[in-house]
Amino acid sequence: EKTHVSNPENDPVQVFCRLRPPKANEESTCRLLSPTTLAFTTTDSKITRKEIHYKFRHIFTSFATQNEVFKYVAYPLLEDLLKGKNALLFTYGVTGSGKTHTLTGDHHNPGIMPKCIHTIFNSISAFQAPKCMIKSDKMNGFEVQSQRDAKQDEMDLLKASSRTAKKNRKDKTYVNDGTKIIDINESTLYSVFVSYFEIYNNKVYDLLDENCGTRQGKILREDSNKKMYVNAVVETEVKSAEEAFELFNLGQKRKKTGNTVLNSVSSRSHSILNIRVVQLPQGCPRDLLISQLSLVDLAGSERTNRTQNTGQLLKEASQINNSLMSLRTCLDNLRENQTTGANRLVPYRSSRLTLLFKNYFEGEGRIEMIVCVNPSAADFEENLQVMKFAESAQ
Ligand code: ADP
Ligand code: MG
Repeated sequence: EKTHVSNPENDPVQVFCRLRPPKANEESTCRLLSPTTLAFTTTDSKITRKEIHYKFRHIFTSFATQNEVFKYVAYPLLEDLLKGKNALLFTYGVTGSGKTHTLTGDHHNPGIMPKCIHTIFNSISAFQAPKCMIKSDKMNGFEVQSQRDAKQDEMDLLKASSRTAKKNRKDKTYVNDGTKIIDINESTLYSVFVSYFEIYNNKVYDLLDENCGTRQGKILREDSNKKMYVNAVVETEVKSAEEAFELFNLGQKRKKTGNTVLNSVSSRSHSILNIRVVQLPQGCPRDLLISQLSLVDLAGSERTNRTQNTGQLLKEASQINNSLMSLRTCLDNLRENQTTGANRLVPYRSSRLTLLFKNYFEGEGRIEMIVCVNPSAADFEENLQVMKFAESAQ
């Protein structure tokens, strides 16, 4: 019996686990020893029965609700976001383990993303808008656009909301369960921007761009403040939760129907939704506070050899493994550096996925991960691989 421990609260990376409900008549290979410890038991009777323990910041059982996961994991990140701090959240696990359910959910059972969007607008809407407009300059910095007439803004808002109301009739949206409101500074103006893209085969495809950035994908650049950004990414201001969902749905559709390489490979691509909040404290109009929450639905972590992949498929699989491997190494070394004072290289340049989050790996913002697990025996081997990642991320 072996226990993988160590999980200080101040760890730079917090790792949570969520267990999917097992399908009927499927045997579970793991059991909960405590709210933070998970035990896996080998089921092969030929080898000695052994149990391996893994420790997490918190384990959500199959009875955990979407709201519990949101409150425990994402809410603190939102508080950070509205204070002007960056935050990054990954869901990790094999295909079918519940990553998308956890991060997106559906309109009856919304996951972290819609709850975050609702909470942001539940918090800021009353104070948002008038007087001036904050404009995104292709992600390479923001500027305040001339002071505007409050009347004009009111008109724009009205127009926007009536447009949204019309669209909502045919487009799916997510229930607003009146999620707890975060205290904000009432004398600050807030603007919210959304961008949504995928990393597939180490290339960045913009889901809010009609052409997705062509087959070559978009490139990553570093701005004058040494922050990474996707060059020419489409970043759109949203004035309501519904507008944000509209964009998200548009991106989802593009993912499914696009005649690009993105078609039908969603389990093999990393999908990234960025919510950027720009705050303009009143009184000093040029002093913008910009923060970003990135929600990342990682590609399935299954190994290449599970499916008989050849040619293009094999290339895809190995790229995914490469970027998940480099994510693992980055998180490993980051923790090592921050907990033991070591000076290990964090090799974020080894993949686009990690390069994009360079600033987080350099300590600018909190990183969290939810490891999703399907406890069925069929996934046993894969789950041990997943746990290896989790353990190393602890
Ligand atoms: P992944 O994105 O990891 O491939 P999904 O999120 O698509 O997995 O989940 C696979 C299936 O299992 C979906 O039908 C999803 O609705 C269901 N599912 C996953 N997690 C849960 C959960 N915690 N409760 C209920 N159903 C779940
Ligand atoms: Mg998925």
